[in-house]
Parts: sequence; structure tokens; C-alpha cells
Amino acid sequence: MAARLAVSRCGALPAAARRGSLVPCRRWSAGSADAVYDVVVSGGGMVGAAMACALGHDIHFHDKKILLLEAGPKKALEKLPEMYSNRVSSVSPGSATLLSSFGAWDHVCNMRYRAFRRMQVWDGCSEALIMFDKDNLDDMGYIVENDVIMHALTKQLEAVSDRVTVLYRSRAVGYSWPGPFSMADSSPWVHITLGDGSTLQTTLLIGADGHNSAVRQAAGIPSVGWSYDQSAVVATLHLSEATENNVAWQRFLPSGPIALLPLSDTLSSLVWSTSHEHAAQLLSMHEEEFVDAVNSAFWSDANHTELISSATSALQFAVALLKPTKASARQLPPSVARVDANSRVLFPLGLGHAAEYVRPRLALIGDAAHRVHPLAGQGVNMGFGDIASLLRHLSTAAFNGKDLGSMSHLTRYETDRQRHNTALLAATDLLKRLYSSRAAPLVLLRTWGLQATDAISPLKEQIVAFASK
Ligand SMILES: Cc1cc2nc3c(=O)[nH]c(=O)nc-3n(C[C@H](O)[C@H](O)[C@H](O)COP(=O)(O)OP(=O)(O)OC[C@H]3O[C@@H](n4cnc5c(N)ncnc54)[C@H](O)[C@@H]3O)c2cc1C
Repeated sequence: MAARLAVSRCGALPAAARRGSLVPCRRWSAGSADAVYDVVVSGGGMVGAAMACALGHDIHFHDKKILLLEAGPKKALEKLPEMYSNRVSSVSPGSATLLSSFGAWDHVCNMRYRAFRRMQVWDGCSEALIMFDKDNLDDMGYIVENDVIMHALTKQLEAVSDRVTVLYRSRAVGYSWPGPFSMADSSPWVHITLGDGSTLQTTLLIGADGHNSAVRQAAGIPSVGWSYDQSAVVATLHLSEATENNVAWQRFLPSGPIALLPLSDTLSSLVWSTSHEHAAQLLSMHEEEFVDAVNSAFWSDANHTELISSATSALQFAVALLKPTKASARQLPPSVARVDANSRVLFPLGLGHAAEYVRPRLALIGDAAHRVHPLAGQGVNMGFGDIASLLRHLSTAAFNGKDLGSMSHLTRYETDRQRHNTALLAATDLLKRLYSSRAAPLVLLRTWGLQATDAISPLKEQIVAFASK
């Protein structure tokens, strides 16, 4: 295995290079031995760091060497800042279970998070709404600052530093598969070149390097994707008065969805997806003007029409006759008093999906495999779901002494996750498009659809169960 990489750049692979027949993109020559790892995770964001943590804590990986490469700096908090971060994630109960399985959730609990018990979603063009909750008043999810998640993961990576090496400020600049990929179990390993010129080898490369994944591109894995005509504005908001604040609110305006996510009794986090021009305006407004715009976006009925209101009432009446106790009453979200200075930031939005999540000796996870609109609050949850699935298959492979980079278990991971992720991606994209319209027939269709879904408890329960994973 004492092979050394002779660097020669190559671009995307030709279309003919498909799974099992990838051509080598670099040449090999004899030379000094590189550092060798069982698994290298490229990209240490929330998903990559959690993947390395999960492997490091897995009992069947006790004799394995894992490397996490992260281009950015270490993200441990010396002290929890008093001020909340503007970057937060809605974390599903399934994701919290994954983080608990290797001790990271305890750190989150010891720092701060906010559980929410209900979620109200309603239409900006009608009275239609849906209220999600759990019968037993279990938590529906948790709002956690991304910095807190990263801190928790960093602590748990330190706890397994004998198995997991982490290189911060270390960028992978080249990957090579000496191929042919069809000989998965016997083919030489993946070689990785770092920014400082050093090289290393691994039996399995996990690409967790975000939606512009260099790993995905180097492997020539095709992906579909597009930019949405929207950016998301995030901010930390102070409520007019203290409340229980355990509801996540989302209203679909024709310009895009606006969500208010609880952080504490008096604070909530805003995610407002809207046109790029409007997002830029929201960022440049004076703070008072911005707060007025937020309150009006949640409270104003300016987009309602009489036709839609009558049709909504008619269906509500029919539903009430059939199921007198089941229709949810619309509640108003808390009003906002002020915005934290400098907490407003903008993110352009898009959708992306890799046609393949695996190749011999390669697996993609997180945004490297799929990018979704934040309206469903599912991006990082999908990534954590990828980890749970990939870990299960790799752990079994390690227990059975199998080659970790073999396609026999990697394809099982791909099948598991593509089934789940493509359904979520399609549903999210459909919702985004359906709610972007003011056209009366579409408004009517979605109004009735939302009301009917709200009245059909088993359907609602299925949606909650799917989103809780
Ligand atoms: C406004 C907004 C709100 C959102 N809200 C939610 C929510 O409520 N719930 C939810 O589930 N999701 C949410 N998401 C989505 C979520 O933030 C993403 O899905 C998640 O951050 C993706 O994590 P990741 O680790 O896969 O990728 P990234 O966060 O992009 O991390 C990739 C990492 O790889 C590193 N990297 C890149 N290239 C290299 C290289 N060559 N070598 C080494 N390292 C490299 C980068 O430095 C980075 O740290 C939201 C997204 C947005 C924009």
C-alpha cells in the first residue's frame, strides 16, 4: 500500500463514468507511505462532526482510526454567551436521540435549548390552518443554537481523541480513486491531498462538506438542483411580553414562509424566506421598521379575499358537522417588540440532490447529498438521519470484519436514505411552490387541503411521526 500520489488535476468525470466503472482521475507512483485511516470524514459542520463522533463512540469501531477534516476553526464555546446566536436549528426528537446515543445531547441540555410542544402552520391568503401536537403532550422538537450543537459535538469528539483525530483549519484539496471502482473490495484506497500538500489514505471517505461538496464533484456524482427565487432572513427577536413560548409558528405568505421559533420565555428566532430584493430591504431597514414588518407579516389579513374566506368558512362548517371537536382554532403568535442589534443575516436558498449517495469507498451525507428549503426545518435532521443509517450499516460491517468501503453495505445505506430524503425534498419543494401563488384556484385547493388534513387525525399523526424522525 506504499503508493504515493502523483498530482495531476482532473475535472468532473465524463458522463460515461458511472457507478462501478469510474475512471481513475490521477496517476499513481511508488513513494513514501501516507498516513492511513479506516474512515476519513471530510467536512466538520454539524453533520460531519456528528458522524465522526458517532463512529468514535461505536463499540465496533474501538480499534479503528478515524480522521475528521474541517476547513474552519474549532468551535468549542469557552463560556455560553448571554446573547443567543441568530443561527438555530429545529431539532427533531429522532435527531436528539441520535445525539444522546453518543453523549452530545447531555451537553446541549446543560447549555440551553427550548422544547416546543405545538406547531401552528397557516395560510397568509385564507383562514386555513393546521395545528400539530402530540396527544401525550410530548415535545415535538427542540430549538437549539447551531453553536451549542457544535460545542456539544466538539466536547464528545475530545472524549474519543484516542480514536478520532480532528484537523481544524485543514482543507482537503484533492481526492482520488485509483479504480477501477468495480473491484470495490480489492481496489486501492482513497487518497486525499490536504491544503498543506500532505497526503493520506482511507478505506472509506465520507463526504460531509456541504451543498457545494468538493467530494461529490471529485467523484463525478451528478446532482440535480436549483436556486430558489428566495433568501432567508434570520434574526433574534424580543417578544412584547413573557409567555410560555412553546409553540413554533409558521405562516405561508405569497412571498414566502415566515417562521417564529421559541428560544426562551421572551425570545424567539425568526426565519423569513422571501424574494431576494425584499430580503435585502429587510436587512437595511431601521430596527423599528423591521419589527413592524415582522408583526404585520404574522398578523395582517391584507392578502385575504372574500371569495376565499367564504369557501373556507363553508368547509369549516362542513368539517364541524362531520367532526365537531376536531378543527383547530387559529391562535395568534406573540407580538415582537424588538430585534437584537446585528442579528439580521441573509441566506440564499436552493434545492439540491445527489443522484447517488455512495460509490465504492465513498458515502455522502448531509447537505453534500441533499439541500432543502428551510420551510420544513429538516436540513440538518435529514443529515442526522443519514448518520443513524450509515452508522448502523458500518457498525455491522465492522463487527463482521468486512471492508468498510464495500458497496454491499453502502448501497443499503443509500436505499434507506434516498427513500426518506427524496420524499421530503419533493414535499418541501411542492409546498414552496403551492404557497407562492395568489391565484384563487390554487389558494382554494391548498386551503381545503390544509383544512382537510387538519381534520384527519391519522394523517396528521403520520406527518408528525415522519417529521419526528
Ligand atoms: C436559514 C436556514 C435555516 C435552517 N433551519 C434549519 C432547521 O431549523 N432545522 C434543520 O434541520 N435544518 C435547518 N437548516 C439546514 C441546516 O442548517 C443544514 O442542513 C446543515 O447546516 C447542513 O450541515 P452540513 O454539516 O451537512 O453542511 P455544512 O453546514 O455546510 O458544513 C460543511 C462543512 O464542511 C467544511 N468543508 C467544506 N469543504 C471542505 C474541504 N474541502 N475540506 C474540509 N472541510 C470542508 C465547511 O467548513 C463546513 O464546516 C437551515 C438552513 C438555513 C439556511
